Amino acid sequence: MKQSIFTLFFFFISLTAFSQGDGQGLVKTLLDETPILEDLHELCDQIGGRVTGTEANEKAVEWGLKKFEEAQVKAWKEPFEMPRMWAERSALASIKSEEAKWQPKIACRAFSTGTEANGLTGKLVFAGKGSTEEFEKLNGQAKGNLVLIETDVMSNLTELFLEYINAIDVEANAKKYEAAAVVYMSSREKKLLYRHLTSYGIKNDMPMIVMARDDASRCQRLLERGVDLELNLKLDVQDEPAYFSNNVVAEIPGTDLADEIILLGAHLDSWGLGTGANDNGCNVSMMIDLARQINALELKPRRTIRFVLWNGEEPGMFGSMAYTQQHEKDLDKIKMKLTVDIGSGKIDGFFVNGRMELGPVLAKWLEPIEDLGPFMNIPDPIIGTDNYDFLAQGIPNLVGKHDVYNYCADYHSESDTYDKVNAKNLKENAAIVGWLAWTMANDPALNFKRHSRADIEKIIDKFKLERGMKALNLWEGWKDGSRGR
Ligand SMILES: [Zn+2]
Repeated sequence: MKQSIFTLFFFFISLTAFSQGDGQGLVKTLLDETPILEDLHELCDQIGGRVTGTEANEKAVEWGLKKFEEAQVKAWKEPFEMPRMWAERSALASIKSEEAKWQPKIACRAFSTGTEANGLTGKLVFAGKGSTEEFEKLNGQAKGNLVLIETDVMSNLTELFLEYINAIDVEANAKKYEAAAVVYMSSREKKLLYRHLTSYGIKNDMPMIVMARDDASRCQRLLERGVDLELNLKLDVQDEPAYFSNNVVAEIPGTDLADEIILLGAHLDSWGLGTGANDNGCNVSMMIDLARQINALELKPRRTIRFVLWNGEEPGMFGSMAYTQQHEKDLDKIKMKLTVDIGSGKIDGFFVNGRMELGPVLAKWLEPIEDLGPFMNIPDPIIGTDNYDFLAQGIPNLVGKHDVYNYCADYHSESDTYDKVNAKNLKENAAIVGWLAWTMANDPALNFKRHSRADIEKIIDKFKLERGMKALNLWEGWKDGSRGR
């Protein structure tokens, strides 16, 4: 009996050894010393913040390309059109009143319009949390003035998501009641500023800023005591028409299943306040290290493993959208899309993005690396990163789920810098993603169907994605068929 189990055991090992042995070697190599942190340092400390369309972003594209080439991995650029160029040059504010004069610290929301050189001046009016009721109570005072919107402190992913959702009504009201500008109280403490899209995304056509929480609450206290405040905003932005940007693509060709693709990606661009370290430089470095180590070990996957450093993600996932459009005829070949974009907290599972059938298979794939776990996979769809257009095209897709670590506090803010990246987690995450990519590239059992539009609609309904898609400017494109299957 003993002996037969022994024999069976070795039989099993030899059946799966084609992938597992190599996969274990890859895991070990990725956990050993690699240049992953040195790459991250170059990207964040030398190149810095990388707003799509800026010189720094173009430098980052060349840098990414060079990194793959130095690792002797075939790589190229794929140009795509970005609908609008936007970057902040400077943003200054000053408060004037009989009682108080000071310069609050501010930053433009993405795609905020700029102001004339002498700035936009108006009364600052407190509009509470920005609900219709609160705007109504202002009795027409919002019109032509700058409205201050109170926020709660954001401390987790759910609250971050709510921040995006709440903006839909706040901004619609600001327009309806004809405010001259929206002034958001920063949802982070200690003077921390951040930048991301408004609910109008690239179509935003009014000045919108974030004011340091400390300054904004000082304004609120004064306004609530009946003090009149005049606010002057000087917003200098680079705001130009459509232009071309580039994704960076690299690939390890497959062998007998070369026509089937496992697509891995992380976005290269960032908003420019910090240096885009946890969002998402660390995972860009991970992609480069995975390609480098697979190639250095001379591993030959059965399926092609393709890596994309996405561009134009922050302004609205334009690089990944363009990829699905430009490669429309080849989308059936993509057997899995895996996105890593939630910082350097430890990966403790994956979002299966509404594809429930992926869960059990994924759990099995992760079993052999349980010592890097535990892993818990989550059914809910993520729609705010580069998996979205693949989900909307019906392609099976995963997003790394991380212990949030310090992701939320530094999200899109000045403090998202190299020193916030957890190096130990990043190495382990690389090993987890490397193992998974390798397994998916070799397992004959990987065969999930591409969803039809009706299947995708079911996911949208089941997980009530409509409002989130509206907040992220995705709903219109899905409804009119210009974005998605
Ligand atoms: Zn990101």
